[in-house]
Amino acid sequence: MLRKITSDWIHNGIDGFVSDHCIVLDESGVIAGFRKLDENELRECVYYPGMLVPGFINAHCHLELSHLRGKFETGTGLISFLKSVVAFRETDPEDVMRAIDEADGEMRREGIVAVGDISNKTDTAQTKRRSPVHYHTFVEAFDFLQEGLAKNMFEQYRKVYDGFEGIPRSLVPHAPYSVSQQLFAMIREFSSGASGIQSIHNQESPEEDQLFMTGGGAYRAFWESFGFSMENFQASGKDAVACITGQMDPGHHLLCVHNTCMDSGQIKRMMAWNPEVSFVSCPNANLFIENRLPDYRSFVNCGARMVLGTDSLSSNWRLSILSEIQTVLRYNSWLSLEEVLKWACYNGAVALKLESELGSFEKGKQPGVNWIRDIVMDKGRLHLGSRAQVVPVS
Ligand SMILES: [Zn+2]
Repeated sequence: MLRKITSDWIHNGIDGFVSDHCIVLDESGVIAGFRKLDENELRECVYYPGMLVPGFINAHCHLELSHLRGKFETGTGLISFLKSVVAFRETDPEDVMRAIDEADGEMRREGIVAVGDISNKTDTAQTKRRSPVHYHTFVEAFDFLQEGLAKNMFEQYRKVYDGFEGIPRSLVPHAPYSVSQQLFAMIREFSSGASGIQSIHNQESPEEDQLFMTGGGAYRAFWESFGFSMENFQASGKDAVACITGQMDPGHHLLCVHNTCMDSGQIKRMMAWNPEVSFVSCPNANLFIENRLPDYRSFVNCGARMVLGTDSLSSNWRLSILSEIQTVLRYNSWLSLEEVLKWACYNGAVALKLESELGSFEKGKQPGVNWIRDIVMDKGRLHLGSRAQVVPVS
């Protein structure tokens, strides 16, 4: 049985809004057609007042940190935030598992159909195996920037990687400031061959470039405060981008996460090194932790592929891509809703190599359909109203 649905406005996930169109779905939600309505068809359609868009892609989350919702102070800066994460006492495993399941449910209710999820442990494996959400797990390794620990830490994270057998996964480095050259090399070697997907946290705070330019600054003090020696760390005299381009394999898609302090020159260098780089922005988390946002204009002017993520519930109030879209637009009124919807749908699907199934209303795909209510037309442009909400309809 085919179903036909329509709305005042439909965004196909890639470009622009159309009206007077219908989406034809088969019983399992596969798109059988997306076309202009004729008069007779209108009576056969279920009408959703507002707007229809494809299912959202959350390109960056840490599902395993969901029990830390509401535990940390906001606006402290990244290094203080990391200290509070490290200092937090172990939680009852049952509470951790319950929080993971609840977070998965919250994302489904928010119309999220695929997630790029960072994992340092295997706590999320069960939930991921039974959830209808498509998860790509990035098992994330770090060694506190200690060459001497690289081998042990690599083995530790390879076991975590093995724990996600049978579901989409990659072994990836955490961040330039937490991964030694040796560990970067071991991850590169492990991931060579098939062209996969890599992820790395990048330039979330200004201290990151400082560490590589000068060898000093807050990150040096941060590691020393845990008793790690920084004596063997050699500053390259170049920025964090050079650390990534010099040590990662450009043959993989790369999700470069946060990029809060990146400038145009750095964006261009990253794109020249790897044309398949996606810049993942988690605006609510950036406001939560650093109280600042990336300069979106630089990314757009460079033609960068922008995608959205929620980050974890330790640094966000909720797991909602619609809320991330609202935050981007609130602080960047020069950006259009149609552009940012592309970040949330098609671009995210490309970043996770899922564009043949998800991200746009095209025949044969099964992208999910989100209904967004409270849409406002102002000066010829569509905007989300202040009470905009998303309801998944397939
Ligand atoms: Zn993160």
